[in-house]
Amino acid sequence: MAWDFSTEPEFQDQLDWMRDFVDNEIAPLNLFTDDISRQSWREAIAPLQDEVRSRNLWACHLDPELGGQGYGQVKLALMHQILGRVGIAPIIFGNQAPDSGNSELLAIGANDSQKKQWLEPLLRGEITSCFSMTEPHNAGSDPTMITTTAVRDGEEYVINGHKWFASNASSADFILAMIVTNPENPPHSAASMMIIERDTPGMNIVRDVPTMSHPYPGKFRSGGHAEIKFEDCRIPVANRIGEEGEGFLLAQKRLSGGRIHHAMRWVGQCESAFDMMCERAVSRHVRGALLAEKQMVQDFVAQSSVEIRALKLLALHTAWLWDSQGPSATRVEIAELKFWGTGILHNVIDRAIQIHGALGWTADLPLASMYVNARTMRLADGADEVHKSFVARKRLKDYSAVEGWPTEHIPTLREQHRQRFAHLLEQEVLNN
Ligand SMILES: Cc1cc2nc3c(=O)[nH]c(=O)nc-3n(C[C@H](O)[C@H](O)[C@H](O)COP(=O)(O)OP(=O)(O)OC[C@H]3O[C@@H](n4cnc5c(N)ncnc54)[C@H](O)[C@@H]3O)c2cc1C
Repeated sequence: MAWDFSTEPEFQDQLDWMRDFVDNEIAPLNLFTDDISRQSWREAIAPLQDEVRSRNLWACHLDPELGGQGYGQVKLALMHQILGRVGIAPIIFGNQAPDSGNSELLAIGANDSQKKQWLEPLLRGEITSCFSMTEPHNAGSDPTMITTTAVRDGEEYVINGHKWFASNASSADFILAMIVTNPENPPHSAASMMIIERDTPGMNIVRDVPTMSHPYPGKFRSGGHAEIKFEDCRIPVANRIGEEGEGFLLAQKRLSGGRIHHAMRWVGQCESAFDMMCERAVSRHVRGALLAEKQMVQDFVAQSSVEIRALKLLALHTAWLWDSQGPSATRVEIAELKFWGTGILHNVIDRAIQIHGALGWTADLPLASMYVNARTMRLADGADEVHKSFVARKRLKDYSAVEGWPTEHIPTLREQHRQRFAHLLEQEVLNN
């Protein structure tokens, strides 16, 4: 019987190396990301990325013919648990969102010449990308409401519309955008996927929207979330990925595996927060005792410990299901993982902040930015409620309505089975 939670020794060696590399080489650089110019940044990360390539750990989310390792989701999940400890680690390992999801989409939908032009340099880490679907005046939770249009004019499309929350758009070399090309089609086949290259006339990046992470309007920055106006923006028809109307299909492929990786990065974040929580608990005295000796603090520690383990098991089980039964068999489990995992991430970091008192709320510890990120995750990649609603609808499909009493109504069941046990029931009465 195969039921095994162990990791094969060769891969465990790779994970051990990753853990050491992330903690000792990447985490220190993460402290200076806001002080380094774009050029110095590239110089700083290039040797680290080379080291990752030399260990065959670069862009592992992709199949071997595209430069990945074809590891499958369980191994990827174990890797992402380590990468989740440090914000910039996925960049060093060639699987940073949104580039990782965009490369999956291009690998599935792009033709050979498109792959050569955009996918290959993206995988080599030479260029960066953005994914743009959400619009300010239509609910992002219902992409059938997208109103940005692309109208065909000879060998070009003319794009008009308004997008926002396009992460990295202001620094990316190209934007992969979901745009309506066929309004006459049913809603789920009205949109197409288009590539718009940086500095294309008519693609006007208005600003990086101030957010909880960056509350003040600032210069365009990597990691910013841009507002974009498309005003008679012309792109070649050759920039369309897949056929007209395939936008939804391609967008769906892009997101689902990445949600398992997200969840395992949340495990990594939770573990960091837990380490900080426990270190503080055994270090700080209040009213003559350590915080660790207070029962309410012990509750924080115990609760967090079991929640982190439960999240990890849920994520690994989902990854295992994907590997053994395929992506379409795991849609409900991935949705469950998404909305439940964001709650655990939020709660564990919240407790770590609470234990640190005022220090927990300052930017002197990483907890404040981790907390903002945790809050973000309840909205990004589909609001939690959308995933809950999907899970409930799918689960409820397995049930049918009954007339009269519910199936488990005890008097009805007793009546139904009385005959079967009649001899025992008579004996029982006689014994009494
Ligand atoms: C940090 C961050 C990065 C992002 N990056 C990108 C990106 O790179 N590209 C991109 O295109 N978009 C991006 N987004 C946008 C994100 O995908 C949307 O915010 C999300 O899809 C929700 O859309 P909305 O903001 O329009 O909210 P709405 O769709 O208006 O929903 C608002 C709220 O309504 C409720 N709700 C919605 N639907 C349901 C339902 N079915 N049942 C019950 N309640 C419901 C939920 O509480 C939801 O939060 C990003 C968002 C964030 C916060």
